[in-house]
Amino acid sequence: LNEGITCIGCGAQFQSEKAGVPGYLNQSKLHNYLASLNSIDDPIELLCERCFKLKNYNQIEPVAFDSAHFQQILSSIATKKALVLYIVDLFDVAGSMIDGLSRFIGQNPVVLIGNKLDVLPKSVKKNKLANWLRKQAKDQGVKAVKSVILSADKGDAGQILLDEIADYVDDYPEIFVVGVTNVGKSTLINQIIKQVSGNGSVITTSRFPGTTLDKIEIPLTETSKIIDTPGIIHASQMTHFVDSKDFKYLLPNKEVKARTFQLISGQSIFLGGLGWIDFLNKQKISFTAYFDNKLDLHRTKSEKAAVFFKTQAGKIMQPVVLPGNEEMQSKEIKLSAGQDLAISGLGWFTFHDPVVICFHFQKGLAISVRQAEI
Ligand code: GDP
Repeated sequence: LNEGITCIGCGAQFQSEKAGVPGYLNQSKLHNYLASLNSIDDPIELLCERCFKLKNYNQIEPVAFDSAHFQQILSSIATKKALVLYIVDLFDVAGSMIDGLSRFIGQNPVVLIGNKLDVLPKSVKKNKLANWLRKQAKDQGVKAVKSVILSADKGDAGQILLDEIADYVDDYPEIFVVGVTNVGKSTLINQIIKQVSGNGSVITTSRFPGTTLDKIEIPLTETSKIIDTPGIIHASQMTHFVDSKDFKYLLPNKEVKARTFQLISGQSIFLGGLGWIDFLNKQKISFTAYFDNKLDLHRTKSEKAAVFFKTQAGKIMQPVVLPGNEEMQSKEIKLSAGQDLAISGLGWFTFHDPVVICFHFQKGLAISVRQAEI
């Protein structure tokens, strides 16, 4: 009866069999909805229970993700003539790149989109950042035909993107939007929908990773459509180690203030209650930190750091990881001046001097060293 009728929020097919599974809606609501489809009035637009809760109460329901299904959708792109819009989060570039994307998409052209520009310091040079981003993707095997920097949650994002892809739309009937969870894929697609139809906020967006569950198609012109794909979950992002109530320390929603420090040998710096870095240099060094403004970057003497972490994480130092994620590792890392140490889902440090550090962080968390982003 309800075959092919999908939730306008997540794209999952409606069903009344299993609560907690995507597309679930109780029988009477589903029945009313199906009846409305045949009515002369405009059909009501309906969300499944999960999307409804997300939209109205910001509640997250645990859902089983089937990564084989994600891969299947992604790998079908290679067999088509398609344009790929590849969205990454400018605040977590390494953590938001899709491993092996070039294998999934074949020879199709890629437009790289760096989202959440608004959280970076206003002083960033957009052209430089766009080139930097393109180089990061190239290092991962993805050659982008262009690189666009924007903020999906600003009103002009839909138009900016449509202008950037205008030259391709006629040649590519299918435009796939790909990205890991939480990069702002739904937000951007909503802006495109608003631009083409004048109708805002159709797809569920939220601060919770993993909100978009299945394919959603949006007609763009008579011959082309935009296809949203499920966001792949990167379990190595810090977001997956902490409680969702603590996302406010991790996911900035306004401009991040660059914080510059000068440290001497024997000093350490804490990342809230998540971990810390010991500085092993003999000389004084300086670096700039780019993290959510709410994340406390507390300095202390290295000799006291381990004890301080043990006794104060979760007390004066917030946030901490969820139970079960406490296992730590320590890694000595050498960086040159002009390099970043990026911590996936959290932020990064840019070093202005060569340094040797010892980083104490969670097992399973992704970190990377790269040429400075800004
Ligand atoms: P998806 O999982 O990739 O579909 O991501 P969503 O569109 O649901 O967005 C994830 C989170 O990022 C939400 O909290 C959004 O409000 C936020 N977000 C999306 N775009 C932007 C942006 O341009 N700037 C900022 N600061 N936040 C954004």
